[in-house]
Order: sequence, then C-alpha cells, then structure tokens
Amino acid sequence: MRDCLCWLALAAISLHAATAPKSETVRGKLVVRSGEAAVLETAEHQRIVLDGDAPTRKVLDDPRVNGFDVEATGHFTAPGKFLIDPQHTRALLVRDGGKLKMITYWCDVCYIRAYAPGPCVCCQKDTDLDLRDLEDIR
Ligand SMILES: [Zn+2]
Repeated sequence: MRDCLCWLALAAISLHAATAPKSETVRGKLVVRSGEAAVLETAEHQRIVLDGDAPTRKVLDDPRVNGFDVEATGHFTAPGKFLIDPQHTRALLVRDGGKLKMITYWCDVCYIRAYAPGPCVCCQKDTDLDLRDLEDIR
C-alpha cells in the first residue's frame, strides 16, 4: 500500500511538470502609461515589464486598467520581463474586493462581449470595460 501511494505522488509530480513548464504567477499593481510598456509593480516595489499575445497587449494598453491589482500567469523571458500566457487561458486577472475577475469589454447596444478594448464588432460603438466574476463565467 505504501509503495502504491509513492507511485501516485510521483505520477502527479511528473504530470504537473509536463503540462506547466516554468509557469508562474506574479501579483501586483498594473501601471499603464500611454506610449510605454505596461508594468506590474509588486508589493516589494519590483517592476516587471509585461508582454502577451495581441488581445492581451491591447488590454495592457488600455488606460482604464491602470492601477488595478492584478495576477498574471506566464513565465519570465528575462529578468524583469514577463510574458503572460495566451488570453484564452485567462492568464490576466484582476483582484477586486477579494475576488478574481476577468477583464472583458461590453457593448450595451448589441449585448456583445469582447476580450480586448476597442469598437464593438457589430455597431462600432466603443465598448465599456466590464470586470466579470470568474465564477459567473464558469
Ligand atoms: Zn455594438
């Protein structure tokens, strides 16, 4: 029985290593300034430059998310440089009132949700920033 438990533990560890190489989560305050790369400032005042895929970059370029308390999952590409995982993995989350929320954009004319800022795909109206509880989406 003891051997059996050991094997299970080993299997769990190797499975984790295979699916999530070097993936980690950084937390801190998002600093967005126009014309500059978005920065995450940790509680220890460490500044980490953030990058991501195209929709993530658009979010990181949105002044409305400036100052948000965020959690980003991804990996360091260099000291002080962090690449956020693809947006569909929900790698960038906002901590708001003790809850983790997704950054989404909402058109209140067409009732269409988008995951990057910009004009509505349907009516071209500028979409509104809309933080959504992760629990509501699941
Ligand atoms: Zn619309």
